[in-house]
Amino acid sequence: MTNLPGIVITGASGRMGQMLIKTVQESDKARLVGVLERPGHDWIGKDIGECMGGAPMGVAVSDDALELFAHAQAVIDFTAPAATVEFAGLAAQARAVHVIGTTGLSEDDLKKINAAARHATVVRAGNMSLGVNLLVQLTKKVAAALDEDFDIEVIEAHHNKKVDAPSGTALMLGEAAAEGRGVSLDNVSDRGRDGITGARERGHIGFSAIRGGDIVGEHDVLFAAPGERVVLRHIATDRAIFARGALKAALWGQGKAPGEYDMMDVLGL
Ligand code: NAP
Repeated sequence: MTNLPGIVITGASGRMGQMLIKTVQESDKARLVGVLERPGHDWIGKDIGECMGGAPMGVAVSDDALELFAHAQAVIDFTAPAATVEFAGLAAQARAVHVIGTTGLSEDDLKKINAAARHATVVRAGNMSLGVNLLVQLTKKVAAALDEDFDIEVIEAHHNKKVDAPSGTALMLGEAAAEGRGVSLDNVSDRGRDGITGARERGHIGFSAIRGGDIVGEHDVLFAAPGERVVLRHIATDRAIFARGALKAALWGQGKAPGEYDMMDVLGL
């Protein structure tokens, strides 16, 4: 039992944090060795099971990241960009696998994570589900097969608490479509249309974001041409799919050489 990889979950009180804690606790392949929240949070020092309204789990919520990471084989991190950049440095110092689900990372954040990955194994993906990673592959193939008569639009919907747009998944899908077409997304991305925008430019890839209620995550990639449309769709109804993917990534990363990996590597797609 004690030989199982020890996992630390950051952002313990968050939507994904709580789901990850349940997933690791129920797994017979890993041990929950620590949960982290920010200093001053109400939950610090209390049992995480009780904080989440259930039975005690024997793990107290801590605010000491380095101390927790030093005793872990992997850190699963679905928080916010500033926290994730800080945790990347600390996880590398502790030689723990860092699984990053946080989205909305800037170019500068990505550079810092990349620097940490020179010394540690990092698995980062804007979406950890099997279905979306398959959708990314399909998007690349369909974009490669269809010419620019087909306008590509990525449409996503999420709950009303989401802070970044387009979603990390929408950007992954946009990147896949651009790659399929052999272009750089930066040169063809159409975001935030409003007002007199002019006609749609041929070859552009558009993004639209819907925010409302408790939608877990929905993504369409639309290929629209005169007379016909192809729609590739993924609908997430349960956050557990992301948590299961993240745990799979943490286990897969054990013993891997330092570097930055993604879910395609983990799933062998
Ligand atoms: P959430 O409910 O707001 O949870 C975020 C958690 O991170 C909170 O517990 C928050 O604590 C903590 N946090 C934020 N900044 C922190 C800091 N500087 N230090 C320590 N803790 C900090 O959000 P969520 O819905 O769980 O989503 C979290 C992230 O995961 C988002 O970026 C989301 O897009 C992403 N996500 C990714 C996937 C995937 O498959 N890759 C799937 C779902 C979500 P406070 O409440 O104290 O601020």
